Amino acid sequence: MTKKALITGIAGQDGSYLAELLLDKGYEVHGIVRRVAIEDTEHKLKNIVHLLDRIQLHVASLDNVFSVIKTVKDVVPEECYHLASSSFVSYSFEDEISILNNNVNSTHYLLAALKEFAPECRFYFAGTSEMFGQVSVFPQDEATPFTPRSIYGISKLAGYHLVRNYRQQYGAFACTGILYNHESPRRGYEFVTRKIVSSAVKISLGLQKTVLLGNLDACRDWGYAPDYVEAMWRMLQAPEPDDYVVATGVTHTVREFVSRAFAAVGLDYRCYVQVDPRFFRPTEAVPLCGAPKKIHDRLGWAPTKTLDEIIAGMVSHERTLHGRQEGS
Ligand code: GDP
Repeated sequence: MTKKALITGIAGQDGSYLAELLLDKGYEVHGIVRRVAIEDTEHKLKNIVHLLDRIQLHVASLDNVFSVIKTVKDVVPEECYHLASSSFVSYSFEDEISILNNNVNSTHYLLAALKEFAPECRFYFAGTSEMFGQVSVFPQDEATPFTPRSIYGISKLAGYHLVRNYRQQYGAFACTGILYNHESPRRGYEFVTRKIVSSAVKISLGLQKTVLLGNLDACRDWGYAPDYVEAMWRMLQAPEPDDYVVATGVTHTVREFVSRAFAAVGLDYRCYVQVDPRFFRPTEAVPLCGAPKKIHDRLGWAPTKTLDEIIAGMVSHERTLHGRQEGS
């Protein structure tokens, strides 16, 4: 029997890889998008343009409970992956209020709608290492206390507690994946890895001269996005619902990433990178680095790519965007 999956945030990096994974496994894939996305397919749906004839899109607004209920009633999914969220890092008051409201409400509306209209549906919630925030433990795992340092982190932590509450109070098969940074050729340009790779390739092609970056000593645990959507799927196939840290267990500085990305295009980053205080964020006293032991032991998940392999894939994709094939 074909399984039906509903994905929020289907047009994002993770949503698009997850849609591909589920289609390969024979799922009927439904996605929720905003009206504006349907009207601007070329830009807003660029990650899923190649899938449009194989998936069913539903125009809905996750901050409108009626819209969420209607979609859940229309689809009656067996698995729901809630990846959409406002993740814009901003310090303005209006943004703070809407990020918290939108992220908490959308998760709550989905859980409530599924409980009522698709009670057998298994639910995945996209948590994040930002829930740990300013940590004092290295590496972090499922037992590490949460000390979020941003409204985004707080909103995700509230979602995590909603998921646990629905699991404990109503027996929902609901899981949170606490995902560390994960990259790919589909990563948005606002993230440091894409910014670095894109700049390195452009500089190597003579299209750009320098790149301005923030804190080069910041550390991140960078994984490969397609591995992380595999982890999401495995969580929903497990015998019992639970929460899992998804990470590589290895941390690198931004400086290491820059150095390797520039080396991949034959350049020394020190000649091209300038530090600009505008992009500066304070370094964590204890770096963010996840311990993926639980998901490895229970679900057999492990990352498949090294950082150099991830960089190579991103560089190769960036070169094709500029009409260059490998070796040309
Ligand atoms: P985040 O972990 O979700 O904040 O992912 P980012 O890719 O945006 O940032 C990763 C790390 O890179 C953070 O510690 C930033 O402080 C650091 N960083 C250094 N320079 C830059 C920059 O120019 N842009 C961004 N986005 N991050 C930078």
